[in-house]
Amino acid sequence: MSALTFTPAATARRITDDERARILAAPGFGQHFTDFMAHARWTVSEGWTGAELVPFGPLQLSPAAAVLHYGQEIFEGMKAFRHADGSVWTFRPEQNARRMMRSARRLALPELPERDFLESVRALVAADEPWVPQPEGETSLYLRPFMFASEEFLGVRASHTVDYYVIASPAGAYFPRGVQPLVVWVTDTYARAGAGGTGAAKCGGNYASSLLAKNEAVSHGADEVMFLDSETHTAIDELSGMNVFAITRDGRILTPRLTGSILEGVTRESVLQLAADRGLQPVETTLVMSEVLDQISSGEITEMFACGTAAVITPIGEYRSQDGTWTIGDGGSGQTTLALREELTGIQYGRVPDRHGWLTRLV
Ligand SMILES: *Cc1c(COP(=O)(O)O)cnc(C)c1O
Repeated sequence: MSALTFTPAATARRITDDERARILAAPGFGQHFTDFMAHARWTVSEGWTGAELVPFGPLQLSPAAAVLHYGQEIFEGMKAFRHADGSVWTFRPEQNARRMMRSARRLALPELPERDFLESVRALVAADEPWVPQPEGETSLYLRPFMFASEEFLGVRASHTVDYYVIASPAGAYFPRGVQPLVVWVTDTYARAGAGGTGAAKCGGNYASSLLAKNEAVSHGADEVMFLDSETHTAIDELSGMNVFAITRDGRILTPRLTGSILEGVTRESVLQLAADRGLQPVETTLVMSEVLDQISSGEITEMFACGTAAVITPIGEYRSQDGTWTIGDGGSGQTTLALREELTGIQYGRVPDRHGWLTRLV
């Protein structure tokens, strides 16, 4: 198959310069969208065709489109960062491309080749370049590639028509008032994924199944919910959209091993590398929640954090469950957690040397 070229089908901007400046002054997260979106369509007979950049706007979709009934959908999350010299970069995009191919396989969706994924992102960010915020604070252009079953058919089978889009949304600092540790509710009621299920795929259904547990967390005054493994309800899986780490007094950094129910985060993988670089000993293992809570109480575990593209690295200050509350360290942001966060964001914004070759220039 020949490579896709995302050709502009229109060049007129949807939003005036003034309006855009107003939005970029306080973008929030996921509320405002750029001028364009990238699109390609897959059909069982022709494969991927029709790559284009079109104005951002509502989709035309049959009410019988398979995705609305059976949830055959996957997505990715990435960011474009402006550096001090004005250039625009993204972080490990080939990892997102490959993960989207793995997610596609699990959801019986077609795999978009890595080069086409990368080209869709590059073409969109080039067209929407004025939307990449200036690098004050931790602002970025959040990129959301996604793919769904668009065939008009209520029969239950993999869709014969699939649409792929990339949309982009300017994002302000995740923590406008400085990094705030999370309060995490440990649910013993719900699981986000089970053995053999879709936990390792980045699909909307995993998020749908996490929302009630998130509501439960909020009703207990928590910010996030911790999911344990679905079989024994003893081992840490992850939060609804972030992987979890613990740092011990004796210099180990622990994270759940990939069981098939855990999403393999690009941030997770990068943190393991950066931690090893600074002399911590990375350990991917089974983290039994009750043992973790004991080690928090004894001071053996000194810091915990969650990580993912949106919030980068977020300290966990406290766990709550039906059985009580546990404060990690002094409940604030751990030193090593903040150092890892500073280094990772430093690489992304071009302030720290990119010694692992993680950045790709987009504009
Ligand atoms: C996207 C996601 C993460 C974090 O992945 P990153 O590649 O680091 O952004 C973690 N857990 C879940 C369930 C996710 O969907």
